[in-house]
Amino acid sequence: MSARRPLVAGNWKLNKTVKEATALARDLKGRLAAARNAEVAVAPVFTSLASVKEALAGSAIALSGQNVHFEDQGAFTGEVSAPLLVDVGCTYCIVGHSERRHVFGDTDENVNKRVHALLNHGVTPILCVGEQLEEREAGKTLDVVLGQLALGLANYPSAKAKEVVIAYEPVWAIGTGRTASPSDAQEVHEAIRGRLGEIFDTETAGAIRILYGGSVKASNAKDLLSQADIDGALVGGASLTADTFVPIIEAAG
Ligand code: PEP
Repeated sequence: MSARRPLVAGNWKLNKTVKEATALARDLKGRLAAARNAEVAVAPVFTSLASVKEALAGSAIALSGQNVHFEDQGAFTGEVSAPLLVDVGCTYCIVGHSERRHVFGDTDENVNKRVHALLNHGVTPILCVGEQLEEREAGKTLDVVLGQLALGLANYPSAKAKEVVIAYEPVWAIGTGRTASPSDAQEVHEAIRGRLGEIFDTETAGAIRILYGGSVKASNAKDLLSQADIDGALVGGASLTADTFVPIIEAAG
């Protein structure tokens, strides 16, 4: 049995006012008060981070950013930096989400810069990788995913590598209701762990958590999370209410 502690992270994307986000945080805090094996994190929009942090005070639920700019400060209108995420209480931050890559043009190179900015400030990156449908259909899934992984982790210091979190999110499964089958997801997760072993070493690879993301919900969470190399979930739509999010967390243990 794996010693990796499961992580279930809710990506609230561009949803919820401060009031709504705070209400959900309070609801989660109440319903997840008992100690559990799985670790839980939520990623609200930037404008709600401070209020959600306050609402979560005294709970074990961690706070995550949804993205970060790679410079600490300066003339970067519209951006938020790693020190500012630390300032507001984030311990995690998602980077390289497919919506960032495919809607906003994030590249492997600037995803890597974001990863390093987070590392420099002690925030754990949740590095997302995943293939598009046409890449899967062309048999390029592993080339794409392992390429994004290696470039996203370029120059990552081995001493800190066990803490990084990888999220495998097939783009065609995000927000579509389509999910990779547990065995298809496991195949990619196993390949990711193999490549992590080449980038770092086998022991380090064995300690890194690899989450699955893409239409995870209560009905499919258990089957996905029971796979040997799936160490938790990055959840979008189903993380927007406690009724749909909590059962996924329960499935993670
Ligand atoms: C996501 O936002 O990372 C995601 C996986 O979304 P959904 O669960 O809605 O597919």
